[in-house]
Amino acid sequence: MITLQSPVDQLIRLKDDVRSGLTKLGIKTVQDLLYHFPTRYADESQYVSIQGLTEGTTATVRGTIKKLAAKKSWKSRMPLTEGVIEDVGGTMTVIWFNQPYLSKMLHIGGTIEITGKVSLYKDQLAMVNPVLGTHSTGSGQGKPLPIDSHDSLFASDEHATLTPVYPETRGVSSLWFHHSITRALATLETIPDHIPPELLDQYSLPALKTALIWIHGPKTKDNAIVARKRFAFDEIFSINVARQKERALVKKQMAYAIDVASTDTEDFIRRFGFPLTGAQENAIKHIFSDLERDVPMSRLLEGDVGSGKTAVAAAAAYATIMNRPYKNSKTLDSISNTLTTSTRVKQTFGSLQVAYMAPTEILATQHFESFIELFRHTGISIALITGSGCRKFPSKVASNKDNWTTISRTQLSKWIANGEIPIVIGTHALIQKSLTFKHLALAIIDEQHRFGLNQRKGLAKKDTHFPHLLSMTATPIPRTLALTIYGDLDLSLLDQLPAGRKQVTTVMVTPDKREEVYEKIRAVLKEGRQAYIICPRIASSDKDAEKTIQMKNVLTEAKRLQEKVFPEYRIGILHSKMTKEKKEESMQDFVNHDVDILVATSVVEVGVNVPNATVIIIEGAERFGLSQLHQLRGRVQRSSHQPYCYLFADAKSDRTQERMKLFLTAKNGFELAEYDLQLRGSGELTGMQQWGISDIGMEALRNLKLVEAARQAAITLVAQDPTLAKYPLLEAHTKPFETLHFE
Ligand code: ADP
Ligand code: MG
Repeated sequence: MITLQSPVDQLIRLKDDVRSGLTKLGIKTVQDLLYHFPTRYADESQYVSIQGLTEGTTATVRGTIKKLAAKKSWKSRMPLTEGVIEDVGGTMTVIWFNQPYLSKMLHIGGTIEITGKVSLYKDQLAMVNPVLGTHSTGSGQGKPLPIDSHDSLFASDEHATLTPVYPETRGVSSLWFHHSITRALATLETIPDHIPPELLDQYSLPALKTALIWIHGPKTKDNAIVARKRFAFDEIFSINVARQKERALVKKQMAYAIDVASTDTEDFIRRFGFPLTGAQENAIKHIFSDLERDVPMSRLLEGDVGSGKTAVAAAAAYATIMNRPYKNSKTLDSISNTLTTSTRVKQTFGSLQVAYMAPTEILATQHFESFIELFRHTGISIALITGSGCRKFPSKVASNKDNWTTISRTQLSKWIANGEIPIVIGTHALIQKSLTFKHLALAIIDEQHRFGLNQRKGLAKKDTHFPHLLSMTATPIPRTLALTIYGDLDLSLLDQLPAGRKQVTTVMVTPDKREEVYEKIRAVLKEGRQAYIICPRIASSDKDAEKTIQMKNVLTEAKRLQEKVFPEYRIGILHSKMTKEKKEESMQDFVNHDVDILVATSVVEVGVNVPNATVIIIEGAERFGLSQLHQLRGRVQRSSHQPYCYLFADAKSDRTQERMKLFLTAKNGFELAEYDLQLRGSGELTGMQQWGISDIGMEALRNLKLVEAARQAAITLVAQDPTLAKYPLLEAHTKPFETLHFE
């Protein structure tokens, strides 16, 4: 019997190319297939069938590419692309002269829409140099969905027949999806719905099977819209359920209640030497009131690069380590069942501990160094633990008292285990099994978007207490997205930069000014500063032949700059295909100023601090999401020198111009993140895919009302039934969202 969990090949026999195409799309089961939604609906009636074509007329044909080859014309040796396309009625030859890249852009099995004059070629009906329709999906993925209005979902004609158009890949056509999905829906008698019926009622949403039938084969536009609405709600609701479940589990744990008032944390903060911004004050206030409770804090501190998250983290760390460990009566008197924390048994030895984790060695080392400065006067010990070794501050050697010293991992582990070292900073090495804290009260996580229940448990180990969690990120995201993917966390925003920060001078550069900009950079380098040059790609590839020609890539650009533009300076590279070690090495060279210009992809985003780098060039700026551009620009905002950001963009379209204008005028990263969400669908790179949310889900995030409804529904349901005992289908459906990693 076919069920949702059956593999697709039980439903339908798969040819090899179809099989590999499905694998590429991540479609394994019948359920995966049914959740492969159309990106839009075409109007069949606008197409002429190949059978019905007559010579000399102009027509639009839609079909599947059967053959495709790059050739040279017989006489003139002119390059050409020759293909055969097929629709239900027949096949036709198509020739494009002088467009050899088409043979790489299109692919066999893809769907294509062409408009042209029908002529005779070798005695057969053919089209020569037809125009590719915007709805040709043969060139790759389907277009992302349009903004709010549903108009571009559909063909223009009111009475159009609605034919679903699917995101395709090599080997699997839109037509194949249409047939297989129709068969699946006919075969499956019932499709159990994981959304409780009372919720469907409450929001007038169709049941799962109806929604599937409607989204894949709508009779009316309304069918399609209502079905999409159901799946939008479904996705946001499901993620929220998973997050709320996690939140409920954490809240049941017990944390060390920090007595902030008993410490001199105010003095500690005063020593920073600058007044806190209002946003920092606010965040610290909320963090302290979380820490004072014996329920584990779960808070996300979101703030632009340079908004001063480290100072907030340091204040939280200080308040924590100034508290002595105690045993709660909860754990002591479990027999007498006194669930009060008022009788605490303070221990006399050691203090509570703080773990501070960063995604890279360089960042961890930078945090270690700033914490030494902030905590030097307290005399407490701080340790650094990374893959390449361990350090401890202060050194035991009398002559080196003001400095750190290297230390063996074994020795350090011992000191952490017996509670002698209150603050431990590190990379992932911190969560290795061999490392045990004695009294871990607070975990601070920098730039790792998700740090789940299991990792927190892993850190706490044998301790009966669960650590408070302060998660920090410099990636501002839209409010609706934050409410959803961080539904288990409380949010604090640092939406203010410290006073007196130098604004980055941002300039859109037209192509004819390129040399001028290079001269400006040369002048800055001459003064001893450093520069970033960001390219949208790593290497040239022939997959996207036409575009690659103009698109800068790291490898070629680094070579060109070294040979032709900046022969007198040292140029380094950094991109995501390098190993972790190579990346760190490359970054370290830049930090040490052994390299003057770093040519990189956007990997350079994540919070590295090189104050001496004051210029950034962004090539192909139109290819980046606005918040991504903002992150990149933030790299040069760390210095007392005037920073510059030069954008090279192919800004011919109005849309690009509008986006670039927004970038030049927006107040902060949050504003840009909202723009990104609203502008999504422009077909330009969005920087939003990383959150693991589908197109429909992203569409839903533009709708605050829907997001709030879905969130509220999840909160209510999980409050009544935290383990989802009454909703086994929902439990199974939301399980995958629990382990989603948004890194
Ligand atoms: P991020 O939020 O990117 O982690 P940091 O915490 O590294 O930012 O802070 C960037 C710089 O700003 C540091 O040198 C820090 O000392 C300084 N800073 C932080 N808060 C303030 C403030 N309120 N006023 C002035 N400077 C500040
Ligand atoms: Mg930081």
